[in-house]
Amino acid sequence: MQINLSELFVCEGKVMQYEIPIEMDEFVTASGKYPLTEKKPLQLMITHSKNRNLKICGNLDLHMTIPCDRCLEPVDNHLQIAFERDVDANATEEERIEALDEQPYMNGYNLDVDLLVYGELVVNMPMKVLCRNDCKGICNRCGANLNYETCACDVTELDPRMSVIRDIFNQSGIVSSHSSESSRRKQKKKKK
Ligand SMILES: [Zn+2]
Ligand SMILES: [Zn+2]
Repeated sequence: MQINLSELFVCEGKVMQYEIPIEMDEFVTASGKYPLTEKKPLQLMITHSKNRNLKICGNLDLHMTIPCDRCLEPVDNHLQIAFERDVDANATEEERIEALDEQPYMNGYNLDVDLLVYGELVVNMPMKVLCRNDCKGICNRCGANLNYETCACDVTELDPRMSVIRDIFNQSGIVSSHSSESSRRKQKKKKK
């Protein structure tokens, strides 16, 4: 949705408030599609501070469904995002793209609300999502969700991360010192 801001430019100091329904139903990125639910309308307060410079203050309140990093079950994330943007309407579109380093949400006197919201979601999307802190994830051999079931796979043999840890132990001599300890104990037993 585009909103026309030409009223704001009539005089410096003018303030306008907007409440705009969010049309986007999913947030689509290179990494996937994330459904947006329970969307409250975007609250915007835009001020013509001076000399065709706008200050945009916004509030987003919505839920985004993101798969758990470990078990891939969908997780509901409540996002409450307060943001501020400064826009210099004197700048050319090229200058604005460069300055904002993102999609140009201002186009002449029009504000592209979807692009503005998209940019905020990119910046504020949670980096780490877990269904619960102690999520056990899924077995990487049989795909069982280990929160609900245990499987018979010998994970230690298959998980490459485990062999890396074993290598570190071997190199640091921890494993060998343990084995020499036990062999010493065995020798003592033999002496008795
Ligand atoms: Zn999980
Ligand atoms: Zn398994």
